[in-house]
Amino acid sequence: MIEFKHVSKVYENGTRALDDVNIHINPGEFVFIVGASGAGKSTFLKLMMREDVPSGGSIQVNDFNLGTLPKRKIPYFRRTMGIVFQDFRLIPTMTVYDNVAFAMRVIGTKESTIRKRVPYVLNLVGLANKARNLPQELSGGEQQRVALARALSNNADIIIADEPTGNVDPQMSLEIVELLTRLNDGGTTVIMVTHAHELVQQFDRRVVILEHGRVVYDGNTKESGDMLQSSQGHLDRAYIDSFDPTFAITGENTAAALDESIKKYGNSKLKDTSGDFTVYLDKSAGSESDSQ
Ligand code: ADP
Repeated sequence: MIEFKHVSKVYENGTRALDDVNIHINPGEFVFIVGASGAGKSTFLKLMMREDVPSGGSIQVNDFNLGTLPKRKIPYFRRTMGIVFQDFRLIPTMTVYDNVAFAMRVIGTKESTIRKRVPYVLNLVGLANKARNLPQELSGGEQQRVALARALSNNADIIIADEPTGNVDPQMSLEIVELLTRLNDGGTTVIMVTHAHELVQQFDRRVVILEHGRVVYDGNTKESGDMLQSSQGHLDRAYIDSFDPTFAITGENTAAALDESIKKYGNSKLKDTSGDFTVYLDKSAGSESDSQ
């Protein structure tokens, strides 16, 4: 169970990243957290993992009240979660097997348990035959599946996937989300942060849409209508804002403003800002429509 009650987060520079967020997630749910860049998704995850504390409100994760959780208990709390990052975070010099085993060793798991568990989780993600390979010998999608196996190694109740498909191709993205849904069918709670609305639309699951730190939609994918599409629209604007804060752009003229900013800065500068921005440029290069 994860419960955010009236949670707000204001950073030291005055940015309000979350504003009165109320979310209740039951054990065994699968929830997509969607929103533009800057909408508050990372802040939401950071607070949920107790990497940071809210400015107001309360957060409960299973038996842990994060407001009163002593610092020394934070590592124990984190072990109840398996985390998958956009950039995989595998150790390049270790084999697939050792990457998973290492995560278990650092928390003091017995070798006999590791020897049983690692092949089991590699099998779950379909990578039993790659156990002896190094990460660089795998595709992006496969590397992400290793990261997923590692997240599963300690039998976490909750899997948190932070843009897990950000660095893999569309076909592999689909497979990763399918894998997450299968794990979820087995009872694991899955929280997946993404801005890939095309992907979200293919799965009939709960979706929470954040906009400027507020929950603007919380329901199933099918009934979200064009909310998902419009969250992407805000994404475009946010990315432009993020590379040039003086460049204020409103919803309707995003495409025109992008053209203008390309003229001003050139494509290369835009592409430098983040991997995600390249996606936006590719998408918008040909037309102003939302179709890809
Ligand atoms: P998302 O993950 O959806 O892109 P974030 O949670 O990273 O959104 O950011 C939400 C807002 O908070 C943004 O305006 C961002 O610039 C701001 N922000 C994030 N982290 C910090 C920080 N450490 N200090 C100040 N502002 C921050």
